[in-house]
Formats: sequence, structure tokens, C-alpha cells
Amino acid sequence: MTRFGTWLRAEPDGIYCPPGDFWIDPGQPRPRALITHGHADHARSGHGTVIATAETLAIMATRYGPQPGGKAVAYGQPIRVGEVRVCFYPAGHVLGSAQILLEYAGERIVVSGDYKRTPDPTCPPFVPVPCDVFITEATFALPVFHHPPAEKEIAKLLDARASAPERCVLVGAYALGKAQRLIALLRAAGYERPVYLHGALTQLTRLYEALGVRLGDVQPMAGLPKAALKGEIILCPPSALADRWSRRLPDPITAMASGWMRLRQRARQKNVELPLILSDHADWGELTATIAELAPAEVWVTHGREEALVHWCQQKGIPARALLLHGREDEED
Ligand SMILES: [Zn+2]
Ligand SMILES: [Zn+2]
Repeated sequence: MTRFGTWLRAEPDGIYCPPGDFWIDPGQPRPRALITHGHADHARSGHGTVIATAETLAIMATRYGPQPGGKAVAYGQPIRVGEVRVCFYPAGHVLGSAQILLEYAGERIVVSGDYKRTPDPTCPPFVPVPCDVFITEATFALPVFHHPPAEKEIAKLLDARASAPERCVLVGAYALGKAQRLIALLRAAGYERPVYLHGALTQLTRLYEALGVRLGDVQPMAGLPKAALKGEIILCPPSALADRWSRRLPDPITAMASGWMRLRQRARQKNVELPLILSDHADWGELTATIAELAPAEVWVTHGREEALVHWCQQKGIPARALLLHGREDEED
């Protein structure tokens, strides 16, 4: 029943484009890969040629070491890959994140990668790109997922800090994107004290700063005495929230910044005292509003809860189908 995109193949570990002889976000090493952004489930190491934004290439180099096959593309500058015209556009997800427009056989297909529509001070906003087929992510594609305004969640964090001067606030945040956005949002809210980082967050945070994202006074917490951290905000990877490492902190209020914090059960499971609903993915409202705005001839849904969004599209008269790619659980949310 698919009328468009017969020149694109959804394989278990990525999308393959025969006329361009390239893969998009492949899960295993490939001779030629187009990478939407630096999260580990999209950007693997070991490809031959890697075509991505300069920021994504820098993120990959930080995580995996030098990328000799890297070819940087600028947003909005079309290139030709094989017989296909390719252009990257901002996805508003994390620094360097891109949607990829593919043009071939008179058709336009947009691969969104991961995206959000909420403004983010650490990366350029999502650009709606008219297309015949919109391939959308579906991480939070259920009506229950509604992300509140980020400012509201930041206010909760600052209130918790102010109400417990003898404690500290320890916030679990993903190392790429979430941690830096959280710091930038704190600055936008007028918070000027140093923000302290677990060692696992320092490299990517330094890279963001080197790429021009201003984050103010950010310091490693290693080596500081417990008493010096009273009343401070400390960021760590989510995995460090529960481990012994946090015992060196003064009675931490444990917080977690994630779209999953919308689910109280998740917060309880992870022993999170202060759930902060802060996501770098579109929520249900953003996903459906984006599809309505783009009005594509077809929608292909991947990367999450496909069924509800496919159903929504069909109700609106837009042909839609789920692309079942395996191993796509996001490292980040
Ligand atoms: Zn992502
Ligand atoms: Zn993803």
C-alpha cells in the first residue's frame, strides 16, 4: 500500500537508501552512514564515511575518539550522496541534532531522528520541512505524555534547594543534552551559583562550552569536602543516583530530569524524591501538532510507541505505518 519511498528500506538496524548507498543511524558499522545526532542509539562508532553536522562529529569524537571518515555538513546546505539529494535541518533535540531530508525520484522524505518543538537554549529550534513522507520518532507517543513548561520544573528544583539549606540537590541527567540544557535553564532562571558536575558529565559539558553554548560557572565536584556542597546543585548521570558515590554528598535531595518522570511509578522505582519532567523529545501534543502542520502524504513511525501515533494518523486520514527497527531504546529521554 505504500506509494512513496519505495527507494528506502527499513532494516532491523537502520534505514538503508539503495540509490544513495548509505545508511541512516545504523546500529552496526557501515561503509557510509548519515547520523542524525550524537546519542548512542543513533551514533555508533566504526563506520567508514560519517556524514553529520560538525557538532555531531565533535560529540562522536569526544565519545569514541577521532572520526577519520567524518564529513561535516551545515544545516540547510544540500549535498549529493550517490543519486540522492540530502539536506540536514535542525531538530531541536540536542546540540548538532538534525532531521535529514532525502530527495529522489521527485519525492521528499524527512527522517526526523529525535526531535522536540519546545525552545532549548542549547541548540537551534526544529525547522518544519515540507515532505511527502515524514518519518517520526514516537518515544512519548501516548496522550498521557504531556511535558509541562520547563520553567515550571526549574522552579521546582530551585524551590527544593532553597527550602533545605543543609542539604544539596542531586539531579540525575543524561550526559548528552539534558545536563547542559538543565544548566542553561537554571541560568535563564537567574541562578548564578556554581553548578557542580559528576565526572561523567564534564567532557560533553566542556564540549558544549567549546562549541559556544554559555553555561556560566560549572565545576567538577571531585575533591570538594562534603560541607562545601551544602545548598548546592549537583548533576550526575542517572545511573549514579543510587550508587555509593552519592554518600559523599550532604544528605542529597535526589532529583531526576526526564520525560519518564511523568509516570509516578517510574519516579518511585528509581527512588526519586523530586521528579522533574524535562524531556528532549516531543510529547504527544508536539508529535500530533507537527504531523498536522507538515500534512505529509504518509507518516512512518519508529523509535517508541508506534501504535497510538499510527492510529491517530489513520483517524486523520493520513496513511501511516510502523517501522519496526530493533534495539532502538533511547539512551536518553
Ligand atoms: Zn536522541
Ligand atoms: Zn533516539
